[in-house]
Amino acid sequence: MRNNKSLLLIILGLIVYSILSSCGKQPAPDTNFGLVIHGGAGTISRDKLTAEQEQNYRAKLEQALRIGYAVLVAGGTSLDAVEKTIVILEDSPLFNAGKGAVFASNGTNELDASIMDGNTLQAGAVSGVKQIKNPIKAARLVMDNSPHVLFYGDGAETFARGQGLEFVDQSYFYTERRWQSLQKAQAKDQQTEPGKHGTVGVVALDKHGNLAAGTSTGGLTNKRFGRIGDSPIIGAGTYADNRTCAVSATGTGEYFMRTVCGYAISAQMEFGGVSLQTAAENVIHNEIGRLGGTGGVIGIDKGGNITIVFNTPGMYRGYMLSDGQPVIKIFAD
Ligand code: ASP
Repeated sequence: MRNNKSLLLIILGLIVYSILSSCGKQPAPDTNFGLVIHGGAGTISRDKLTAEQEQNYRAKLEQALRIGYAVLVAGGTSLDAVEKTIVILEDSPLFNAGKGAVFASNGTNELDASIMDGNTLQAGAVSGVKQIKNPIKAARLVMDNSPHVLFYGDGAETFARGQGLEFVDQSYFYTERRWQSLQKAQAKDQQTEPGKHGTVGVVALDKHGNLAAGTSTGGLTNKRFGRIGDSPIIGAGTYADNRTCAVSATGTGEYFMRTVCGYAISAQMEFGGVSLQTAAENVIHNEIGRLGGTGGVIGIDKGGNITIVFNTPGMYRGYMLSDGQPVIKIFAD
């Protein structure tokens, strides 16, 4: 009798468990994928952008989203989607990465980039590179073809040359707009130009359930040469872990390093059971904001939930999920 009762209880338990788990089921991995991108956060407001400039930003962000989406929809990896999408943004003069990189205090362009694979927790990054056309490609090669995570300066360039990457003269990174920004910052004796962050970043979830994140930047206008920000620092500007999320940040890097932004978001999810949205809000508003830092973060979790949080007036941003509809936003609304 007692045995029969226990058996009945076990069967009932199994039925309840299967009903509950089917209710909370995520969509099958192959129907649940997407990417989120950013092109920097800062004092971006309607009165500061002409209609034409706004249109140019929107068009480039959409082109980038579509490139990443095409990789994902065809069953490609989140890593490839992140890298290819960032290349589009690096090749545009609109963003502070690659071609449009800002100038350091000595009039040079020093670029940083990183990428991380949420499946293996492998990562690659380069910092302070001056002639690599697409630093995100170098970061990927560091991850794939070296036992290391972060290369800086000459060593990074020697490695990239050995990998056959395209090199350009420093003049390639000259844009009048960024040069004028440097002149303005130096005239005002600002250590860095405040409120303007044009770094680019991409996070993606592929059909195989793998997350990846990448970030690329020229850093901050008028930064002291040799200064390294959060973008190439794994755990600060970039982080991905299949157990939690993939995130990419933009803003005053010093604050994002000191609060270990990327890992802080992931750790809240992993150890505290916090949602991606809440974790990102905690870091941007409670940690970085409290210390006086400005910027934002994008993220996607293993269930395909996304977040975009910033404490600046605007942020170039967009996403494209499995429904194939690109969404692009610039201002606070
Ligand atoms: N976070 C970057 C850095 O501090 C700058 C940016 O996001 O615009 O280098």
